[in-house]
Amino acid sequence: MRAVALAERDRLGRMITPKSAPRGSGRPDSPLELSADDFRAMVAHATEEIVRHVATLPTQTLHATGGGKALARSLRESLPEAGTDYAQLVTRLVRRVVPRSFNSASPGYLGYIPGGGLLHSAVADLIANAVNRYVGVWVAAPGLAQLESNVVRWFGELVGYGGDPAPGGLLTTGGSMSNLIAIVTARENLLGEDFSRGVIYVSDQAHHSVAKAARFAGFRRDQLAILPTDAEFRLDVGALAERIEADARAGRAPCLIVASAGTTNTGAIDDLPRLADLAARHALWLHVDAAYGGFFALTERGKRALIGLERADSIALDPHKSLFLPYGTGALVVRSAERLRRAHAMEASYLPPMQRDDDFIDFCDLGPELSRDFRGLRVWLPLKMHGAGVFRAALDEKLDLAARACEAVRAMPHVEIVAEPQLSLFAFRVGPTRGVTGKALDALNRRVQKRVNGRQRVFLTGTVLRGMFVLRVCVLSFRTHADRVEMFLEDLRGALASC
Ligand SMILES: *Cc1c(COP(=O)(O)O)cnc(C)c1O
Repeated sequence: MRAVALAERDRLGRMITPKSAPRGSGRPDSPLELSADDFRAMVAHATEEIVRHVATLPTQTLHATGGGKALARSLRESLPEAGTDYAQLVTRLVRRVVPRSFNSASPGYLGYIPGGGLLHSAVADLIANAVNRYVGVWVAAPGLAQLESNVVRWFGELVGYGGDPAPGGLLTTGGSMSNLIAIVTARENLLGEDFSRGVIYVSDQAHHSVAKAARFAGFRRDQLAILPTDAEFRLDVGALAERIEADARAGRAPCLIVASAGTTNTGAIDDLPRLADLAARHALWLHVDAAYGGFFALTERGKRALIGLERADSIALDPHKSLFLPYGTGALVVRSAERLRRAHAMEASYLPPMQRDDDFIDFCDLGPELSRDFRGLRVWLPLKMHGAGVFRAALDEKLDLAARACEAVRAMPHVEIVAEPQLSLFAFRVGPTRGVTGKALDALNRRVQKRVNGRQRVFLTGTVLRGMFVLRVCVLSFRTHADRVEMFLEDLRGALASC
């Protein structure tokens, strides 16, 4: 087996070594033009390495970042003048470098907000990059721009947007960029050029990317009003109403409410219907950060939990979270495509004319980017291949797994559920009933986390809520199934018995 692999590598090395003369259709004197055979061989070798890597994912360690600095130092180098054998580079990358990381593609990854990594999307990226078409401007690739528009339209329908006004949106690199584009859109539409008196409202559980986006959008720190949350970590709507009125009386310009539909800390979903009422009463923009929770709207339970989402002016979604796609895939959907375009459209004499039409979209008109990857294909391909039902079933499974895990954790001695699962995320802590308090209680929970993670079968992260350290479980990978949740419960029981 190994001998065959080595022989194959030798063959590939000889074939693709930069010194060898390329064959095939390309210009014969440029190694930058791969021959058809060399391209096939490169892809075949990468495919074998990926297949081997993915096949062993379930038994790989969950976090192997010890010696990270030494690893990073060992890889530092100046720009190479000479080339290196391709097969050797890829094999080393996949076998030596990739495993030394948080295994965010593992079925046992229950920390932070798990990512996905559908291989369908990896293939879509290969195709998109190989044909390398320009999708930032509609006229440059009308058919491809349409595929990406379809994806955005599907997302708009998914969150419940109607047809009047015509909704719109775009794919971004992630939730942070979606939140930024939303804040600029609200600012431009509601405040115009002088936004020095504008106020943005968020809860103390909002993702930090919102505060960062406000800063990028040119707001001062004192223009971000941070509101308290209730016992379920949801924005306190009463406190918000009072604050908006006080700000208006003081001559400030209330502008934007950023609600959360699934916070990163506990998965809390703000009271969207009441926030939509409040926003309507004061003519404010309501943006919902649904980067984690949004795609649960595919499921019946998710739809119920996310009621009111359709009343938001804009919504950030992260296909690289709850649609299982690879990192670098976010989305922003906006109730009114016209308001999004108004905030971002520009003219330039060297560009072709823009469509300025709700049916034919120039993506450069809707956000800060001009040239960009054809990220639409990465979303379109898996959705077209499988249909929405497969994603709905997978998300339903995550809801079931989180509910089951939470019930089993609740039944363990001396464990307190701090946040119930509203979707597929819950938070708990060990010890208050043992009479442990304060710093010792935090230390106990950190020990439990270390024990559980030390088994390398699941990966948990913690957070600090109102001054207390808690553990959290987020079930979101398409690779996580009931067997892995059992391993989590076993390892937690073991940790509780020994801490
Ligand atoms: C992950 C996340 C973000 C940030 O999104 P990125 O894709 O990491 O940029 C924002 N808000 C929430 C609620 C998130 O879970």
